[in-house]
Amino acid sequence: MYCPYCGRQESKVIDSRGLDEVVRRRRKCLACNARFTTYERIQPHDIFVIKKDGRREEFSRDKLLSGIRKACEKRPLPTGAIDKFVDAIEAELYKAGKSEVPSSYIGDLVMEGLRKLDHIAYIRFASVYREFADIGALKQEVDSLAVRRELAPANQLPLPSSEVVNSIAGHKRR
Ligand SMILES: [Zn+2]
Repeated sequence: MYCPYCGRQESKVIDSRGLDEVVRRRRKCLACNARFTTYERIQPHDIFVIKKDGRREEFSRDKLLSGIRKACEKRPLPTGAIDKFVDAIEAELYKAGKSEVPSSYIGDLVMEGLRKLDHIAYIRFASVYREFADIGALKQEVDSLAVRRELAPANQLPLPSSEVVNSIAGHKRR
């Protein structure tokens, strides 16, 4: 554990507190005396993700988080909504109790969640995840969203117009 202030490694735990499945530790750097906090998370077991090409890689919360953050970039979401969303997906994965999950399983969970959270973020994620071959396929997805409009929560933003779809397609190309 490196001190965030001076980068040295030796620190002393001055307080330790369990919060549900997380342990919070207050530490003091032995070199510069700075105090900082670390959180220890219980991970029941390692989960490996089977990718489309058959390779396996260890499940990474950070990677999932960064993918979802990218999709939600500049969207008007409440503070903490993305972290909460990632927590829920992670919990779902551990609850399933499998040591290996196909990447498509995680992708589907993300799609399902984003559809409820924010339509634009959903389409952005879908366009990368499903690798829409062209703008036509993307529009089809938007149309299928329109069909489900009645199911959207009351606070959901209006569905994107064609211009928005085009700008999202541009976003993907960048
Ligand atoms: Zn230090």
